[in-house]
Amino acid sequence: MNCPYCVRSVSDVDASVVYRVPGYGRLWLCDRYPVCDAYVGAHPQSNAPKGTLANRQLVTLATKCSRLF
Ligand SMILES: [Zn+2]
Repeated sequence: MNCPYCVRSVSDVDASVVYRVPGYGRLWLCDRYPVCDAYVGAHPQSNAPKGTLANRQLVTLATKCSRLF
């Protein structure tokens, strides 16, 4: 799997790398983090990605959209 924004590979890391607090499981994170901040959550059992990687801009837009509905 590769980052859709910068085409680098992605790594399976602890979510605390991004969220700065423990207890959120695992993430697939772009290897260019923090230059590129694209990531996606991983399913706790299979560790499979929960979707495609999203960077912070997309996450912010998605949050704004969900508030409108
Ligand atoms: Zn990237």
